[in-house]
Amino acid sequence: MKYKPIKMKTCPFCNKTVTAYLSNNICSSCGRDISNRCLNENCGEKLDSAARYCKTCGGKSFYFSLGLLKPWQLEEQE
Ligand SMILES: [Zn+2]
Ligand SMILES: [Zn+2]
Repeated sequence: MKYKPIKMKTCPFCNKTVTAYLSNNICSSCGRDISNRCLNENCGEKLDSAARYCKTCGGKSFYFSLGLLKPWQLEEQE
C-alpha cells in the first residue's frame, strides 16, 4: 500500500475541516476516529467513505450507521 500524504477531510461529528493522515484518521478537533469502517468488532475492516456495508463480512459501515450517507452517495455504489 502506498503511503498517502496529509488529506483534508470534514469531520462527521463536529463538521470541522480537519487535517488527518489516512493511517490515523483522528479528528484534530474532537479526537474521534473519523475513518469509515466495519462495525463488526470481529472484522473492523477499513471501508471506502461511501461504503454502506462491509465488503468482507457484510456488516454495517460506521458512516451508514450514523446516517451520514445520503441517497445520491448510495447510488454511487456498484
Ligand atoms: Zn471532529
Ligand atoms: Zn466487516
